Amino acid sequence: MDKKILTRVLRYHMKKESSKSRDDKTSTANLISKKKYSTRYGEERDPFEVARRRMVTEQLIPKGIKDDQILAAMSRVPRHLFVSPGMEYQAYEDRPLQVGFGQTISQPLIVAMMTEELHLTGVERVLEIGTGSGYQAAILAELAKEVYTIERLSDLSSRAGQVLSNLKYKNISLKVGDGTLGWVDKAPFDRIIVTAGAPCVPEALQMQLTDGGMLVIPVGDKDLQKLEVITRKGERYDKRVVTHCRFVKLVGDQGWNVND
Ligand code: SAH
Repeated sequence: MDKKILTRVLRYHMKKESSKSRDDKTSTANLISKKKYSTRYGEERDPFEVARRRMVTEQLIPKGIKDDQILAAMSRVPRHLFVSPGMEYQAYEDRPLQVGFGQTISQPLIVAMMTEELHLTGVERVLEIGTGSGYQAAILAELAKEVYTIERLSDLSSRAGQVLSNLKYKNISLKVGDGTLGWVDKAPFDRIIVTAGAPCVPEALQMQLTDGGMLVIPVGDKDLQKLEVITRKGERYDKRVVTHCRFVKLVGDQGWNVND
């Protein structure tokens, strides 16, 4: 990690922690200087461990995320590696961040909520539409068997691919293309998650669900959507609305036009 960034991180944490006890401050400083990633994440120092734990204890748990596996995955995956360079120290705040090309990495809470709606048990094949930074794909890869993720912008896809391969994920396949059409060669999927806002549910995605499979998708207008969970039961598709949300546009054949 760049020394300048590390200093900024330290200052940021110290400022945030100035009201906390001395012990707490000391332990933060220790973690910042000594802690390393577990082997899965290589031998890099992890100056963000405290920030990441706080994201879980101060944002996700109080806002109703209960699934222990998801909370554990989100306290493991180094979110700061997925944001644009220079934004690392903001990576664990409760908000979306720019990842370049006008796209965003979703706020931690919405990542956790959408993942909870998928009810993953470790055996599922999951399709994600909208790779973006690759962060949501990493969370899915921690909790499911295989992850397939499609991104329409090739620069974003290759950057995400690089980060994910540095982190040694072996169960994620990336593809550049229009995700509104799904991934025909790899279908059907037990779960599909769309991380961009759609004007309506793309039929191709419903068709690529297994029987009993679930699709989580934001549907609505360009500025505000409802997060829908669709469960396939034979040829029937049951719909449930979870919350309101705000995503960038799903652009494609069964989505918005690029100029909409
Ligand atoms: N899941 C991402 C955040 C996604 S932002 C993360 O964890 O960082 C939404 C992404 O969807 C953007 O990168 C955008 O380019 C992409 N996107 C929009 N329309 C798409 C489409 N039809 N197919 C694939 N990706 C699409």
